[in-house]
Amino acid sequence: MANTDPDVRVRFCPSPTGNPHVGMVRTALFNWAYARHTGGKLVFRIEDTDSARDSEESYHQLLDAMSWLGLDWDEGPEVGGPHAPYRQSQRMDIYADVAERLHEAGHAYHCYCSTEELDARREAARAAGKPSGYDGHCRDLSEDQVAVYKLEKREPILRFRMPDRTISFDDLVRGTLTFEPENVPDYGIVRANGAPLYTLVNPVDDALMGITHVLRGEDLLSSTPRQIALYEALAEIGVGAGTTPHFGHLPYVMGEGNKKLSKRDPQASLNMYREAGFIREGLLNYLSLLGWSLTDDRDLFDMDELVAAFDIAKVNSNPARFDLKKCEAINAEHVRRLAPEDFVKRLVPFLQAPGLLPAEPSAEQLDLLAKVAPLTQERMVVLSEIVNMAGFLFVAPEDFTVDPADAAKALTADARPVLEASVKALEELEDFTPEPIQAALREALVDGLGIKPKFAFTPLRVAVTGRRVSPPLFESMELLGRPETLRRLRSALDALPAA
Ligand code: GLU
Ligand code: ZN
Repeated sequence: MANTDPDVRVRFCPSPTGNPHVGMVRTALFNWAYARHTGGKLVFRIEDTDSARDSEESYHQLLDAMSWLGLDWDEGPEVGGPHAPYRQSQRMDIYADVAERLHEAGHAYHCYCSTEELDARREAARAAGKPSGYDGHCRDLSEDQVAVYKLEKREPILRFRMPDRTISFDDLVRGTLTFEPENVPDYGIVRANGAPLYTLVNPVDDALMGITHVLRGEDLLSSTPRQIALYEALAEIGVGAGTTPHFGHLPYVMGEGNKKLSKRDPQASLNMYREAGFIREGLLNYLSLLGWSLTDDRDLFDMDELVAAFDIAKVNSNPARFDLKKCEAINAEHVRRLAPEDFVKRLVPFLQAPGLLPAEPSAEQLDLLAKVAPLTQERMVVLSEIVNMAGFLFVAPEDFTVDPADAAKALTADARPVLEASVKALEELEDFTPEPIQAALREALVDGLGIKPKFAFTPLRVAVTGRRVSPPLFESMELLGRPETLRRLRSALDALPAA
């Protein structure tokens, strides 16, 4: 049931530091789902005001991640929009102007305290059991005091003056939250060198861009009362639409050992999942379960179903646990659901990565892939498994190797009569297709040598595919073709240990 509200404006506003991580993707996904559910707009904004930590490479990775995930945005980099530019590094004039107006209106003041002074007073407050945030020292400096600081060549930061009152808001996920002034001290918004801080630019842009709902991680909850006060000051000086957005804080994601998943955790890296061959459908389905569910009894759904049902009110405030096994199981289901041609197309890069397919595969190679793909799709969890499952078909004859552990188990001296009889049977076979291949091998091995089928085919499988686990053997032989099948059987025979 769609809950249409075209006035909804949400944003995804990552900082381009490091690689995209799953917590970030979950935030992007929930904002996207809410925009699509309501028919509102998703603004994609790049918060790159920290030149020491931001990188161009990370910026491109963010765009690439969003495109790969299929999370499209209505305003932002590459698509533009009425509030362009959407990279904060290109909006510095705006922030300088707003900072000056906040200062003039008395909502912000110069703070001359040095780090050492701040630290010493914080320690003293802590020792006395008092709140240890900024103590308001520079709120109302006299002209004389300011003159002294200037003589000392101190460079002030700009600090926002928090109102001396309780701030309370209705969090869309967590209900009413209340913050007392002693716990929300005045905070810096512009560095001494004039660089604006996240604390300023994030709410300023939300105000200017008309953001109606802020959905973000719970780690940002402590900045919300400060930002609410700042919105009110911005409304007063006429910056933005004059309204404060609704806030919803998404639950923490817990990783191994029930610790908060940090963005530096390898388990959190989006690229790792991409490289392993998770598909976007599986990953998005799984990530949407970190704090949300379609119904109590259904874990498996596609993005259309998510969009149709998505509701912030149904986001759970309890920490969500990242469960790799479940993520894999859900991915496997989505791999199974892929249309055959789509599945084949997505496998190509995974065979290209280790050089099993060239950058421009031939029609013949693609045809071979189209034939083997259906034999693997049912059992595949992540797409990179295609290398182990079907690499034997694409590898150049001179590069083909047999898994040493599997060879040690299956290609023992006992395998000699099996391989010899198989070579003979297959050499003579007229029609080299699965059924005749199976019939001929059965006759030669089971009837002829009296070996149980279970034992008869394992050495063949290892010799021909290189592994004990492979797609169905007789189909594999057909796809490989008679000459290469026989070559591999003979070369396995040559390599057998002496009896
Ligand atoms: N750039 C901030 C971050 O990546 C955005 C926080 C927010 O959503 O307000 O943490
Ligand atoms: Zn101060």
